[in-house]
Amino acid sequence: MDAGTEGAGCSFCGRSAGEAGEAGEVFAGPGMNICRECAGAAEAIVREYTDGAVQVRLPRWDGMGEDEMLAQIPRIAAVADQVEADLRVWVRELRRRGVTWARIGGVLGITRQSAWERFSGGERFTGEE
Ligand SMILES: [Zn+2]
Repeated sequence: MDAGTEGAGCSFCGRSAGEAGEAGEVFAGPGMNICRECAGAAEAIVREYTDGAVQVRLPRWDGMGEDEMLAQIPRIAAVADQVEADLRVWVRELRRRGVTWARIGGVLGITRQSAWERFSGGERFTGEE
């Protein structure tokens, strides 16, 4: 399991590995995690659509009441925090490997100064690459 997201919950159902129990082991991907149960549900959905036309139903709030939508917001925010935390771990590892702020900023479409401001967390900006 990726060290950066260890202990974080499933990005889909919001349950932590502990809450999901033994059968609910959470697997880490870049920026998001999935528990065994959600992976199984995803597989079932893929299987269901394999032979038919793919129907993507967007937006997800079709048919949802405001209370139901409001109940989803904290989970979405938690996933956003989780993705941000994982992004920081990836950037920290890239910095450990000597990758410049300019290159990190470049792939994110921001300046090296912006990359440093967003991710450095106190690392001194020397103005070097
Ligand atoms: Zn899940």
